[in-house]
Amino acid sequence: FNPVFDALPVTVFETMSRLARETGAINLGQGFPDDPGPEDVRAKAAEAALHGWSQYPPMMGLAGLREAAAAHYARWQGVSLDPEREVMVTSGATEALAGALLALVEPGDEVVLIQPMYDAYLPLALRAGATPRFVRLVPPDWRLDVDAIRAAVGPRTKAVVLNNPLNPAGAVYGREDLEALGAALEGSDAVLIADEVWEHVTFDGRAHVSALAIPALRDRTFKIGSAGKIFAMTGWKVGLVCAAPHLMRVLSRAHQFLTFTTPPSLQEAVAYGLGKDDAWFLDARAALGAKRDRFAAALRAAGFAPLASAGTYFLNLDIAPLGVTDDAAFCERLAREAGVAAIPVSAFYASDKVTTVARFCFAKHDATLDAAAARLAAFR
Ligand code: PMP
Ligand code: GLN
Repeated sequence: FNPVFDALPVTVFETMSRLARETGAINLGQGFPDDPGPEDVRAKAAEAALHGWSQYPPMMGLAGLREAAAAHYARWQGVSLDPEREVMVTSGATEALAGALLALVEPGDEVVLIQPMYDAYLPLALRAGATPRFVRLVPPDWRLDVDAIRAAVGPRTKAVVLNNPLNPAGAVYGREDLEALGAALEGSDAVLIADEVWEHVTFDGRAHVSALAIPALRDRTFKIGSAGKIFAMTGWKVGLVCAAPHLMRVLSRAHQFLTFTTPPSLQEAVAYGLGKDDAWFLDARAALGAKRDRFAAALRAAGFAPLASAGTYFLNLDIAPLGVTDDAAFCERLAREAGVAAIPVSAFYASDKVTTVARFCFAKHDATLDAAAARLAAFR
């Protein structure tokens, strides 16, 4: 008797974090900051856990958090939302992604995935029964190829998944790109699953533009956010989904059967955190931007070729100049021989892979970044 149908792959984040533990490498692979996150937000959660409600919160999320999310997105992204009908709380962005795909897709439907794609998208789409249609973006600038998206959308397309800012590329797509995307989807039944978890991690004064801020996309978009990214606390699985009522109704049905709800103490703390003043968010960005610059400068000084990073806390190295054609093998060697773990960007492609880029997480203490850069310099 073998009841195990082993169809799902092992995520590259698990593989590389295990390799980092085994080899003692500095782990710049899986993306997580090495600070614990804002103390006042954690204190709110502790207080709510001790003195607050411990039973099921409402299925759609605490009213206070839904109102805080609507106010936050109005303030930061100029998006106007009805917290009652257009905001829902999920257990992480991952649940929202899974729910959207499960709710929308029937076997044989098509989903357009833009590569490089966050590694959860394809397994989830496939398990939902979708036939994937791929669009391929390439370094160094990862230009959003809207013509290719338009060509990939057909009568069976149920969803297009767009991650903006784009992990792992570090690209940030602005209003023009999104308006072109809106025009490309016109006349189709495709829902845009806009994974905007990196919305607050943009650099050099760039402001995130939400797909919901684009009139042509307003009624066909699930905007997905993540408190884990907004507050640099990746273990906090609190997702924020915003969408027009006709879409939210569909997603909330999936949410009922996936998790139904999310720990109320975390919801209360996130509601508090979203109301922090502008300076907190801007300072957090500036601090990460300084880390990006520090790490990029050290790598450049060592003769490497870092690519631009306009958003996310990832920096990519073009390893083609080193004669590398297999980024996965290179990252394995890097962990074992240089003592630094990174993520091969080919892991974010399913076909026609880009195999000459390695992704490094720079949301780390300066000393950690300096040590990693020194090891990379010695390796080179
Ligand atoms: N989407 C993208 C693009 C991400 O980078 C991540 C976090 N690594 C997620 C979704 C998952 O977010 P959460 O932890 O809130 O489920
Ligand atoms: N989002 C993180 C990254 O891109 C990892 C998420 C995970 O480990 N599942 O590195």
